[in-house]
Amino acid sequence: MTGKKYETYGEYLTASGVAYTENEPMSLHTTFKIGGAARYFVTPADEEQLERAFCGAKEYGINTFVIGKGSNLLFDDEGYDGAVITTQSLDAMSVEEDVIACNAGASVTVLSRFACDNSLLGLSFAYGIPGSVGGAVYMNAGAYGGEIKDVLIGSTYFDLSDGKIKVLRGEEHCFDYRYSIYKEHPERIITSAAFKLTRGDREAIRAEMEDYMSRRRSKQPLEYPSAGSVFKRYPGRYTAQMIDEAGLKGARIGGAEVSEKHAGFIINKGGATCRDVLELIDLIKSTILKQFGIEIECEIIQVGR
Ligand code: FAD
Repeated sequence: MTGKKYETYGEYLTASGVAYTENEPMSLHTTFKIGGAARYFVTPADEEQLERAFCGAKEYGINTFVIGKGSNLLFDDEGYDGAVITTQSLDAMSVEEDVIACNAGASVTVLSRFACDNSLLGLSFAYGIPGSVGGAVYMNAGAYGGEIKDVLIGSTYFDLSDGKIKVLRGEEHCFDYRYSIYKEHPERIITSAAFKLTRGDREAIRAEMEDYMSRRRSKQPLEYPSAGSVFKRYPGRYTAQMIDEAGLKGARIGGAEVSEKHAGFIINKGGATCRDVLELIDLIKSTILKQFGIEIECEIIQVGR
């Protein structure tokens, strides 16, 4: 006797009304279009279902991994032996004076547009980042001189260790370059965030956003699947420039290629595997170490079996 009401986690999810699929290819849920099958791919419709999905996984001994838009991830070719739980349906957004509150699954680009529509300044930098709010808080995403930490006043999370909803205020996130305290706590599932902005001129905000978007289009290989910049910035150096100077633009292993347009991106030219990307990353790292004496670090997150 296990004491469990259902035979499997899948049956538990069905009885709890939570949508899921089995053996779902992660290549369908990542911007890299790479990754084998997750045993379960769970799509909670709201916060309550999200909590149920996580609590059930714990009860049934199933590993979990939360994803937003899958835009910073490299899933293993063998897939994930557990439940990948997506926040994609938790995308509500509201504004009160100069504060926007939104759920973790909301797109940061939609959030940026929403701020502009409400004549609120501070989120233009996020326009074009293809992530969710949860992923952006987790990563302290940033671009064009702005970062999530500049505008975030708080986040709420579901704490899997005791099943409670808790709040983190601004400084408690310990933000740093592409870092938040959430990186130390896989048991904390971000459910919402609040941003304090300032009043601005809607047309000026829109113009700034369009400028950032056109810079992205001209500099980034957006026509190919990727996970954005593969490596973190090295203090005082442009990593992409070092990769370019090392002659690695266009270097290719299997279906993975160092973009000719932006050397900081590895693109999936068709059929790239996780192994192709990892081998290319190793080649880049060892070349940069040899030529510049610098150890560069990955920004993208690898998810193993
Ligand atoms: P995912 O990739 O789904 O997950 C990333 C990490 O966050 C994982 O560890 C995941 O477990 C965790 N996570 C996600 N949601 C939650 C949650 N609710 N609770 C707890 N943990 C969570 N990034 C930048 O910073 N600046 C850029 O300019 C930029 N440009 C990009 C351009 C392109 C073309 C691409 C493909 C990517 C780019 N990125 C950029 C990378 C990426 O979009 C960001 O890191 C983004 O914040 C990731 O959000 P996501 O929802 O896709 O997270």
